Amino acid sequence: MSRTAVVTGAAGFIGSHLSERLLSEGWTVRGIDSFTDYYSPARKRLQIETARRARGFTLVEADLNDCDLDRLLDGADVVFHLAAQAGVRRSWGREFHLYVDANIRATQRLLEALRTRPARLVFSSSSSVYGETTELPMREGHRLRPVSPYGATKLAGEHLCELYRANFGLSYAALRYFTVYGPRQRPDMAFSTFITAALDGRPIEVYGDGRQTRDFTYVDDAVEANLLAAGYGGAERIFNIGGGSRVSILDVLDRIASLTGTALDIRFLDRAKGDVIDTWADTSLARVELGFSPRVGFEAGLARETAWYEKRRGGREEGSEA
Ligand code: NAD
Repeated sequence: MSRTAVVTGAAGFIGSHLSERLLSEGWTVRGIDSFTDYYSPARKRLQIETARRARGFTLVEADLNDCDLDRLLDGADVVFHLAAQAGVRRSWGREFHLYVDANIRATQRLLEALRTRPARLVFSSSSSVYGETTELPMREGHRLRPVSPYGATKLAGEHLCELYRANFGLSYAALRYFTVYGPRQRPDMAFSTFITAALDGRPIEVYGDGRQTRDFTYVDDAVEANLLAAGYGGAERIFNIGGGSRVSILDVLDRIASLTGTALDIRFLDRAKGDVIDTWADTSLARVELGFSPRVGFEAGLARETAWYEKRRGGREEGSEA
């Protein structure tokens, strides 16, 4: 019998890939998205187009803070909660309320609606909950000291999930993704801005000296982690999800120069507040408990993302490559 999934943030970067994967495995998928204008809603419509055309998919265009959640969750076996206001830099200042609304209020509203339901929740968390640390690789048990308002709201989301588990028996897993990339990557993220600037022959702006490192996770591996977490029945709840490729921004730029065949015009800017220097995931727990094993290495993944951007410039639609 087909299982029913609710995917929040279904039209987003990771949510659209997850929706397609679930549909390809025979799930019935109800996707919800409010098409926020953090980046182009038209781009999100293209991202969700392949899923929208598939049998078994329904799109609910609504805000989680303002929709009938009982109807949305009716019959759901698993809720994949990806809807969020992402982005570290914009989380300072006047727009913080967007982060509170999307990452805290909407999560709390969803959790309330799940109180009386048997559905399992898979919550998309972030490596941003760790903050700056010299203890590398980062382990789930490390002290959490987010250094951005965004990270603080994602940590609040994790805490809320745990409260609903402890008090109402919610079954959940929280996945702390480490920088996810691949086709459809959000346009505000580093690879996207670097690749598009390289292809357009524009200067590339780098925050900091470029020696900062990230553990990069290919989007298909993040999607796989969601499926594994949905089916997991063990006692652990919080998992690092990293691709195992810890690379500096300077190395990323080198690769992009060779993939695009261009000489990059790089401008170094001050380090952005809220950006940590290094991230590196210890994924032992996900490996042992979930059977998680990232499949796409950094070079192959970056080549795929670059090819996707090249295809878009050639007039192909965003949703058409998957
Ligand atoms: P995204 O912005 O592409 O997708 C999020 C989607 O949520 C958007 O389409 C947006 O319109 C929707 N949304 C926002 N608020 C909503 C609301 N109130 N109701 C309904 N829909 C709403 O972002 P993404 O990169 O795909 O990230 C997905 C999840 O993964 C987020 O929870 C994010 O915090 C987390 N995450 C992402 C990364 C990454 O590298 N991309 C890393 C760590 C964590």
